Amino acid sequence: MNDYLSPAAQVDLRCAILEAGGNEVFCLGRTDAAQLVTEVEILARGNRDAVPAILHSCRPGDVVIHNHPGGNLEPSDPDLEIAGRLGEVAVGFYIVDNAVETLYRVVEPFPPPAVAALNPADIVALIGPGGDVSTALSSYEDRPEQLRMACAVAEAFNRHQIALVEAGTGTGKSLAYLVPAILWAVHNRERVVVSTNTINLQEQLVGKDLPFLQRATGLDFRFELVKGRSNYLCRRRLGSATAEPGLFDGDQQLELEQLRGWAEKSADGSREDLPSLPAESLWEEVCCEADQCARAQCRFFASCFLQRARRRAAHSDLLVVNHALLMTDLALRRQTGNLTSGAILPPFSRLVLDEAHHLEDVATRFFSTQVTRFAFARILNRLRHPRKPYRGLLPRLHNLIGNQLDQNQDQLFRAYHERIEALLSAGQRLLERSIDDLEATGLQCASIVGEEPSRGDGLRRRLLPELTEATSWGEVEGRLRALVRAINSYAEQLQDLIKELRRLPEELNDKARSLTTDLRACAMRLQSLADQLLAFVGRHPGDCCWLEAVIGRVGRGEGLITRLCTAPLQVAPVLRESLFERMQTVVLTSATLTVAGSFDYLEERVGLCGVESTRRTRLQLSSPFDYARQALLAVPGDIPEPGRDGFTEAVRDLVEQVLRLTAGGSFVLFTSYSLLRRVHDELAPILRVAGRQVLYQGQASRHRLLNQFSQAPGSVLFATDSFWEGVDVPGRALEQVIIVRLPFKVPTEPILQARAEAIAAAGGDPFRSYTVPQAVIRFRQGFGRLIRQRSDRGVVLILDVRVVKKNYGKIFLRSLPEVPSLVLPQRELLEKIREFWAAPDE
Ligand code: SF4
Repeated sequence: MNDYLSPAAQVDLRCAILEAGGNEVFCLGRTDAAQLVTEVEILARGNRDAVPAILHSCRPGDVVIHNHPGGNLEPSDPDLEIAGRLGEVAVGFYIVDNAVETLYRVVEPFPPPAVAALNPADIVALIGPGGDVSTALSSYEDRPEQLRMACAVAEAFNRHQIALVEAGTGTGKSLAYLVPAILWAVHNRERVVVSTNTINLQEQLVGKDLPFLQRATGLDFRFELVKGRSNYLCRRRLGSATAEPGLFDGDQQLELEQLRGWAEKSADGSREDLPSLPAESLWEEVCCEADQCARAQCRFFASCFLQRARRRAAHSDLLVVNHALLMTDLALRRQTGNLTSGAILPPFSRLVLDEAHHLEDVATRFFSTQVTRFAFARILNRLRHPRKPYRGLLPRLHNLIGNQLDQNQDQLFRAYHERIEALLSAGQRLLERSIDDLEATGLQCASIVGEEPSRGDGLRRRLLPELTEATSWGEVEGRLRALVRAINSYAEQLQDLIKELRRLPEELNDKARSLTTDLRACAMRLQSLADQLLAFVGRHPGDCCWLEAVIGRVGRGEGLITRLCTAPLQVAPVLRESLFERMQTVVLTSATLTVAGSFDYLEERVGLCGVESTRRTRLQLSSPFDYARQALLAVPGDIPEPGRDGFTEAVRDLVEQVLRLTAGGSFVLFTSYSLLRRVHDELAPILRVAGRQVLYQGQASRHRLLNQFSQAPGSVLFATDSFWEGVDVPGRALEQVIIVRLPFKVPTEPILQARAEAIAAAGGDPFRSYTVPQAVIRFRQGFGRLIRQRSDRGVVLILDVRVVKKNYGKIFLRSLPEVPSLVLPQRELLEKIREFWAAPDE
């Protein structure tokens, strides 16, 4: 056996067979160079009809492994037919017994085909001067940096490397990675995944770049945008929701009817396809959810929107996803212990991460948890509607059993009736208890630290000795642990009921299947809540745990909201293990990966440091823009430092004066909303009188604000957060970017504090090695909003004098492209900016 299946693969296979109750399974075995199966993934359980789908998941060199529960390993006729079909696509076929002790080799695995290495000449022929792209694109510009990047990406594919590529604004980096990725996928028949942080970039890739490359290059490749499950309508859940008239009130009931009509016609079934978005609470009831999916047992499986999308993905050469979906996929692979099997995405081992500077934040968010009263209410209110006690999963189950069981099965009905009634009352008690316990926890913590919870930011405290060594902390912990036991006990009762449903007559059991799926999901979600609570009270040294207590909206009134939160101190180990050590190729790219020319910060934070250095390559490409001619960086040397007396007034005055110097558009970028509102409120009336359109973040959606901004010449946008990056406003519409403060993150954020302390405890300097680099990357993004094309000109004004007065300020400035910079007293500086605008563009 050990000659064909590695010990780990044998264990995985045994577990898979056990999980399937000893029934037939079909597994995919990945082989190493010696054709030894090293990893195993379940493809189908007990169903030979699934074989066509299996074929799509296999690559040449793989082996499909099938068990014969009876122990007779002689291949049956259907086995031989499957083996024949697999053999045609160079896939082997083994049969094993349920104990995975004996193995019958029906078809030996085929050695994987030799890799077709990418040739730089092919890339030049596509995107170089005179290439296919230049012929198809009237605005084509020769960009040597783009070619260099494309060749570096090709090299990373050829040599199975991890490449860090920083490509300055204007490099044309999306084509620089798409072209080698497509060539690789086409020549090697191996799927490549491209992951981005923002929907904007995904839309650009799927709506513009990839269709363009299909037309321009004539290469035959398929691509697919893979969205998260909750973006798709679940036909089964839609059926359940409509089977319960009165579940929703007025408007939502109407929206539900509209959704039904749309579901009949929609080809895609995804939320973005809807003519208008339904209420979030309604969509949550009808969208696809992993734990509420009956998969192959669902009667809508063949026509399911999500499954269809997944099948399209399985047939695609190139998949576009977002980082959050990628994290879900990696987490599922980790959970199942099968790191290369297809979790959400079909198997892949070549990945391009664009906007890779977000990787640590996305992974942190993904692995963080938060327990609130709302989380309990969401689950328990599904079991019984809070205002309509005859609605919900348990009352529906009760009705179904009551209506469908024969009169002569009265005893059976009574048994279910009692169980369901008991669960309904216990569910209500659990909900009330969870609300009380969380509220008491919030109040008790507030009392320990001597602070009252308030509206707005409220109270936020990490679980540090000041809290956990207080005498009453034991009470808090005891209460939460008791709540965990109560949740688990309730979830077990729910699971017991689900098991008991097997005693129902088969036909009725079938009818209850959809409800069973939903009930099981509720039980699992409750168990997950209990685990999150345990993680909170357990204070794992690898986690940062904190509590928030804030007065906020609860139902129709106000109440105390307690949030019990955890976040991982480090995501580097999990990224290294799940991503960098598992993938053959990973390309991380962005316009801002480096700090003062070094990749060290990123490598450290995302776990690349621990990866063999021979597998890592780095490339920094500067922007093709001529910043020396196109831009001016200005810093008033005599402005008070942020937080000092007179800073706000100086900001207001300087913004007003500098806005008068050009008729082009301006962004004023803040780091705090309160300062934004103050400066905006004082300046907006004056600017409007001067004929300027004045906008501020929060008054409309980001998309709408950007449209309004770009359309009215000379607009001024006061913004924070999301406008520091991912915004592309070329031309005169944006001629000035005013950076009010260096974008340090709020130092009181618990996870930031905890990480800084962890760095200090390890002997490092958290400010230099963590706080500053984070801010530098954001600062570079803000700077990058200004020059978007070769014909742009503009000014970046920095109103935070620390950039020139503090030692660390040099790191910010050294991280920018070579740009003429001026540090002068305000009056002289304004004069120089006036001269810049007066000078003719050469
Ligand atoms: S297969 Fe899953 S997602 Fe699709 S309709 Fe059925 S339950 Fe919903």
